[in-house]
Amino acid sequence: TYVVTEACIKCKYTDCVEVCPVDCFYEGENMLVIHPDECIDCGVCEPECPAEAIIPDTEDGADKWVELNTKYAAVW
Ligand code: SF4
Repeated sequence: TYVVTEACIKCKYTDCVEVCPVDCFYEGENMLVIHPDECIDCGVCEPECPAEAIIPDTEDGADKWVELNTKYAAVW
């Protein structure tokens, strides 16, 4: 799965939301998040993000973002 990181904060673009084939982006407190169970790992959103805020959950340091994305997405 992919996760959204802090680079998303205050980013006003929603290009990622528009390209996601399964609509798994949700609004967190001050950033967007990806629902970890709904993301099909297609990778389409990653290059679309102008803030380069989207990373694979396998990347170094992604753990805390996985947690935050899960937390915010769970509200929905
Ligand atoms: Fe959506 Fe694909 Fe990005 Fe997952 S990797 S959030 S399914 S566009």
